[in-house]
Amino acid sequence: MVDDAPEELTYSATTTSTRSILPADMISVEEARARILEHFAPLEAVDAPLAGDGLRDGRGDGGELLGQVLAEDVHATFSIPPLANTAMDGYACRAADTVGATYETPLTLRIAGYLAAGTVYEGSVGPGEVVRIMTGAPIPDGADAIVPFEETDEQDRNEPWDEDHPRESVRIDVEARPGANIRRAAEDVRDGDLVLPAGTVIQPAQIGVLASLGLASVRVVRRPVVAVLSTGDELLRPGDPPQPGKIYDSNAFSIAAQVRAFGGVPRILDVALDSVEALTQRIHEGLEGADMLVTSAGVSRGDFDVVKTVLANEGEVGFWTVRMKPGKPLAFGTFHARDGRTVPHLGLPGNPVSAMMTFELFGRPAIFTMLGKAQAWERPVVRAIAVDRIRNSDGRRFYARCFVRQDEDGRWLASLTGPQGSGVLTSMSLANGYAICPEDVASIEPGEETDVILVDREAPVPPPVFVSDDA
Ligand code: AMP
Ligand code: MG
Repeated sequence: MVDDAPEELTYSATTTSTRSILPADMISVEEARARILEHFAPLEAVDAPLAGDGLRDGRGDGGELLGQVLAEDVHATFSIPPLANTAMDGYACRAADTVGATYETPLTLRIAGYLAAGTVYEGSVGPGEVVRIMTGAPIPDGADAIVPFEETDEQDRNEPWDEDHPRESVRIDVEARPGANIRRAAEDVRDGDLVLPAGTVIQPAQIGVLASLGLASVRVVRRPVVAVLSTGDELLRPGDPPQPGKIYDSNAFSIAAQVRAFGGVPRILDVALDSVEALTQRIHEGLEGADMLVTSAGVSRGDFDVVKTVLANEGEVGFWTVRMKPGKPLAFGTFHARDGRTVPHLGLPGNPVSAMMTFELFGRPAIFTMLGKAQAWERPVVRAIAVDRIRNSDGRRFYARCFVRQDEDGRWLASLTGPQGSGVLTSMSLANGYAICPEDVASIEPGEETDVILVDREAPVPPPVFVSDDA
């Protein structure tokens, strides 16, 4: 991008000199992702309950399956609804008996019985008769239409049915067409239908469908267990008292939360100190039962950390420089767990934003692949107008943390959420999008368009108002 503003000229000069010292073996985001994804495949199928342990006692939340992929076709073993039933509270009748009914010339029919939802009428509806019926109850034999209360003299009465003094007749104000207000048997699902094919991603509606088929559990692709390991002598855990020179480990928690948000099961390991023994031990703890090991820190070039040495000793690990920012250094490889399995390892950079951004771009596709929905990891991208200048200093693809919104004309606008240093986590927490500044673009000026990846974040809401007791 050429810009003749003096500031930009100075800036371009810097860019050129920085570019010339880029390592020759830099790989693109796409290439890094392709190399990583070669090592992942869908996991095996397991039985998963619709509502976890709470299914029997009613405490389950029905959310266990959300986002998982069906591992086999689900067929119906009965029709839904199994019987024709009423869509309205009212009277089951023979439509022919209502011919001619109008508000001016109503008819009166004899009430032969009462039917609640969940029960089946024993008898059959004869000529001149009706059965009082509640929504969902099966249509009694002989009846072929439902007259809703609204079209009878019960319109405003809405009285409860009195078993001891049942009404004997009802006034019908409107002619009923045959089939009126009747839900046909099997109108939703027919016995034997393929209802949900293998590969379906389970969302709330699919959970509802599975429950309506009476299934307490289904076969799904297992969720991957992801071990999350922070490394570094400088790290404290949240809750520890502060100490000079130390920082709190945020990576373990942000990465574990990403794992969960992407559909995996995170397992946070104790921090590994920068010693060969500590790190080796933690890595092997992490590999046990895990489908992937994610470490953070210690993978940069010229790093004195022991992390690189240990990673190289314990597995086949490549140290890459990826043409992206934040998050240039990345390690990827495989470890041999003590139980004989080969476990992929993703070594994220230590800087908190770099760690999250690289996990977004590489960890998310890996988890989605293991979940059996490889094609779904990509997020929506919109063209947005930059509100602020987005500077890109060194020829890498820059993912800028931004807040995107649509103006009255439906155009997307992207504003930076704050300083873009790779340690500035708060500008990450304000972002609902990552604006992409391409490798060969030195800056995006206000008013210019750029691609923005939309990350799922709920719309901002005003803070809750608390009323104090003494107010
Ligand atoms: P390193 O990759 O070890 O050179 O770390 C790069 C930067 O990230 C340093 O400022 C570290 O202190 C910081 N860092 C490393 N690990 C973490 C972590 N788990 N949480 C927060 N910051 C970290
Ligand atoms: Mg370190």
